Amino acid sequence: MADLSFFAQGQLISVLTAQPIDRFLDYKVPEGGCFIGSYVEVPLGPRKVLGVVWGAGEGGYDLKKVRAANRVLDVAPMREEMRQFLIRAGDYTLTPPSAMLRLATRAPGLGDPPSMQKIYRLGDSEPDRMTDARLRVLGVLRAYGGLSFTLKELADQADTSSSVVKGLVKLGTVLEEDTPRDQPYRKLDPEYGGVDLMGDQIAGSEALRTAVNTGAYGTTLLKGVTGSGKTEVYMEAIAACLRQGRQALVLLPEIALTAEFLVRVEKRFGASPGEWHSGVTMTERRRLWRMAGQGGVDLVIGARSALFLPFRDLGLIVVDEEHDSSYKQEEGALYNARDMAVLRANCCSAQVVLASATPSLESWSNAEAGKYKRIDLTSRYGAAVLPDMHAIDMRSETLPPSRWISDTLKKSVNTRIQKGEQSLLFINRRGYAPTTVCRACGHQIGCDLCDARMVEHRFQNRLMCHQCGESKPMPEQCPSCEAVGKLAPVGPGVERLAEEAKEAFPDARIAVLSSDLFGSARALKEQINLIAEGNADIIIGTQLVAKGHNFPHLTLVGVIDADLGLQGSDLRAAERSFQLMRQVAGRAGRSDKPGVALLQTYQPEHPVIRAILSGDEEAFWNAEAGERQVAGVPPFGRLAGIILSSPDVQQVFDFAGEMARNDGPLRAAGVQLFGPAPAPIARIRGRHRVRLLAKADKTVHIQKALSAWVGQFRLPNNLRLSIDIDPQNFF
Ligand code: ADP
Ligand code: ZN
Repeated sequence: MADLSFFAQGQLISVLTAQPIDRFLDYKVPEGGCFIGSYVEVPLGPRKVLGVVWGAGEGGYDLKKVRAANRVLDVAPMREEMRQFLIRAGDYTLTPPSAMLRLATRAPGLGDPPSMQKIYRLGDSEPDRMTDARLRVLGVLRAYGGLSFTLKELADQADTSSSVVKGLVKLGTVLEEDTPRDQPYRKLDPEYGGVDLMGDQIAGSEALRTAVNTGAYGTTLLKGVTGSGKTEVYMEAIAACLRQGRQALVLLPEIALTAEFLVRVEKRFGASPGEWHSGVTMTERRRLWRMAGQGGVDLVIGARSALFLPFRDLGLIVVDEEHDSSYKQEEGALYNARDMAVLRANCCSAQVVLASATPSLESWSNAEAGKYKRIDLTSRYGAAVLPDMHAIDMRSETLPPSRWISDTLKKSVNTRIQKGEQSLLFINRRGYAPTTVCRACGHQIGCDLCDARMVEHRFQNRLMCHQCGESKPMPEQCPSCEAVGKLAPVGPGVERLAEEAKEAFPDARIAVLSSDLFGSARALKEQINLIAEGNADIIIGTQLVAKGHNFPHLTLVGVIDADLGLQGSDLRAAERSFQLMRQVAGRAGRSDKPGVALLQTYQPEHPVIRAILSGDEEAFWNAEAGERQVAGVPPFGRLAGIILSSPDVQQVFDFAGEMARNDGPLRAAGVQLFGPAPAPIARIRGRHRVRLLAKADKTVHIQKALSAWVGQFRLPNNLRLSIDIDPQNFF
């Protein structure tokens, strides 16, 4: 019987390379033949590049001109489901297949022959003469039974030099052997450890086990406060997956979280998983990539890019802290690992577990709609308690104009300062002031393109729309009544709140944390470490502080404007401030000092505020979903950001203008286009950036419309275009 996926030498094959060429290339099959999915090395101009056999070649031209592939690589062919995943993920994110293949081949030396290493184990013959060092070497080898060591490991363990080991090799006392470097990982034992689950953990793990045992696709939202045992519960799903002989993948939002997780895996399964993130060596990456394909690794824990490993039989993907915005890749291929995990699982009949204390509205509404199953863990394991939450009714506080820290909050902060504890004043707004008003006519400067007000950024001396990215210089005169010098900032942003805090607490050490105030990630990290060590009394922060940082001295959270999210000027403002409050709450409850959260609000009776205070999360999500539904924004409508960039500012604006004028294919499909406008970060690495925003109903196939629209234009060489489907941030 002929194997249909086999190609004999000389036949034509169509190859996808990881090079930035947006088409498949034909080659002739090299000696020995190949399969669909085989990794091949092919000539491209003067170079040799990596590619994957995607199917039969097209033909229809002078066959003599077609070059032959150089060779087939010695790695497991890419599976059908993986090829399907790359194409579907590329279609969704509007990323070309070549760029998707790049994501899937991020390991060095895939084309190299399997490299060998020398290992050492115990032989039979006795040494002619025994020394202390020799005795120690033999002692190590005997102590570990049949195990073998590398030269360095053995010498280190025996606390001696490698020449002692080599001397024993000459005598035949120690044996030296060659073995492939890329060894399988130790097998995980699903019956090794585990805790006695209790309460709703039992039903939760049972439901996940049942789901995994179906061997089919499905997604479950696993929701529970920090410390409720979500990790323990999904470990049981991993165990079920391992019993089925399938592989599992756990995605974590930050490398910093992996160390603790490794310890827990060891305790539960008696061995370590494979690790895939930026902190892993190149040799180890290569090993893991190959072992994923051969089934030589049972469990991988990693960053979002681990989704693109060539698993032989992936049965389960856990996305821990699924709401975390770092799952969104914001450079190159713009994808959200949470969504891609669901897609990947769909392609390979695997289960997905999305774990979070504060799920994203997307996942919550997918569960509501019945697309995902949902498991709730309602109580904390052990004695930890959530902090108190109270409203400060701003209608009964007497604040002078342009002041936002109420007396009640001020007193509370002062108490913490006296006790040597920290306070966080949280405001979910970058910049100086959210609104600019004309004192002559009352006009508020709004965005020309959206129903949103412009935000003053005093640092940059501009007004910006955080919705679509439009920005303009701060005007001298009112655009409405033309009065000069009457424009005034109204309301606080993080820059302005810091100004006030310095006056209100003159002796306190104040630290400001806002993403646009730091030049580098390292500078930011240093600031965060300083704060964590207690070198600040008051932290003024935007949503940046939500990112799982642990401030052990923090006992008070003051939310300056809890009503902010209710106005809908920033798509996810309410969702994020809600998540932040829940997260801060979770942390404060873990330390020995109880925490308090105070919410300043003019609408304490508003359903969202009431939901936050009462801890009635379902009410919150229902209210928030209602608002989004009315506005027609995600997850009830579709958005796509289009960013054009070029070193030439005139060129990029002209081109964006031309694209906006020729929006026929978009309009025909029911997609609205806003812009062009300068991106909020108008220049990155010397490139000027311009932004457009596309908005459509949920029913519209927005990718198809965008492709047709973009396909009309020929991009000049130095101009780059990227499309961000489901944008998380507007920058
Ligand atoms: P989450 O992932 O929801 O934050 P964890 O699974 O990390 O919660 O559980 C919090 C802590 O409580 C962990 O140290 C965990 O080992 C422990 N724990 C949770 N459930 C149990 C249980 N049934 N028996 C023993 N320890 C448990
Ligand atoms: Zn706008």
